[in-house]
Amino acid sequence: MPWCEPCEKSWTPTSLNADGTCPHCGEAVDGTEHISQPPHRAPWHFKLMVVTITVYLAYRLFQLVLWIF
Ligand SMILES: [Zn+2]
Repeated sequence: MPWCEPCEKSWTPTSLNADGTCPHCGEAVDGTEHISQPPHRAPWHFKLMVVTITVYLAYRLFQLVLWIF
């Protein structure tokens, strides 16, 4: 439930302004999509790092297997 700090009042999502602000004071209300749930997308360089590490570890594991057998 969207909660407005200044008004100390909870609003239904439909009673909020179109931009997700409080209809009473105009403040941004907690619990709206863009505040409580920021886009959880990993940056591309992070993905690249994960892929690089995975490939490196797979390569080392492959070498280890060759070394053992
Ligand atoms: Zn308010």
